[in-house]
Amino acid sequence: MANIGFAGLGNMGGPMAANLVNAGHTVRGFDLSADALKTLKAAGGIPVDQLTDIAKDADVIITMLPAGKHVKAVYTGDEGLLAVANKGTLFIDSSTIDVQSAREVAAFAKSSGMKMIDAPVSGGVTGAAAGTLTFMVGGPDDAFTAAKPYLEIMGKNIVHAGDAGNGQAAKICNNMVLGITMIAVSEAFALAEKLGLDNQKLFDIASTASGQCWALTSYCPVAGPVPGSPANRDYEPGFTANMMLKDLKLAQEAAMASGASTPLGAEATHLYSLLSNLDHGEKDFSSIVQLLRGTL
Ligand code: NAD
Repeated sequence: MANIGFAGLGNMGGPMAANLVNAGHTVRGFDLSADALKTLKAAGGIPVDQLTDIAKDADVIITMLPAGKHVKAVYTGDEGLLAVANKGTLFIDSSTIDVQSAREVAAFAKSSGMKMIDAPVSGGVTGAAAGTLTFMVGGPDDAFTAAKPYLEIMGKNIVHAGDAGNGQAAKICNNMVLGITMIAVSEAFALAEKLGLDNQKLFDIASTASGQCWALTSYCPVAGPVPGSPANRDYEPGFTANMMLKDLKLAQEAAMASGASTPLGAEATHLYSLLSNLDHGEKDFSSIVQLLRGTL
């Protein structure tokens, strides 16, 4: 069994750390929130008072932080994890962050004699609690192989997407598809309603025709056709509009930096930004249908 250090014990990191404890590992965790530390203790982990304490005797260090600036702050600098951990420690950053920061931190890890992967996830808090997350991994083969047994405790699908930063690239490309297709599906329902076409009829036809996609068949933005979708519970998340907006902004940043053309990604960013400004940021992102219906 391994000694695991864990920084960032929030909505995602908390249950991920608990699953590692349940698998028999020793987990030392740090978070800025006292409540998050209490939750780790209740789950059988060891809360510590300062970040650097998670690196003591750690075989593996996992981070699940809000954004690139937090990851850089925690990894780099004289008191950063890369400076204080033993040489050869395996680092897994599962935060969703910008590709450039992920690559910068990975290069610094390599020059510090550490193994590192970026391993952002999809599956949300439900997947984190159930240990069924999908991990999209960027980094060298040896680090991927070393990390896989730990990722398998927290997730179900583990995909090696290539070199450092490619996990983040896969995550933002996938979520850009999701953000755009949710708008497309929502527009179709908004139009169908104006034309007097029943929602269930449109669903039955499009879900077996060329309009079929995950946003329609697994996460339908109108109530009825998919009983488990957030539309059936007043758009309680799920995946919030603000989180979708965060990922779309990361995709736009990456598109600008790389010269890729993503006009629909740009439009989707504007629409979720509008939804967020209309006080719907903490509602599920599929509530974009209400914006398009003009019912917000
Ligand atoms: P969260 O805000 O609930 O948790 C982040 C935690 O990091 C907080 O507890 C915060 O106190 C802690 N933190 C911040 N700075 C720190 C520092 N310097 N040292 C130690 N702890 C620090 O966020 P979350 O929902 O758990 O998301 C974490 C990451 O996972 C984000 O990058 C997010 O985009 C990504 N993600 C979230 C979801 C989701 O459904 N919540 C799904 C996929 C990916």
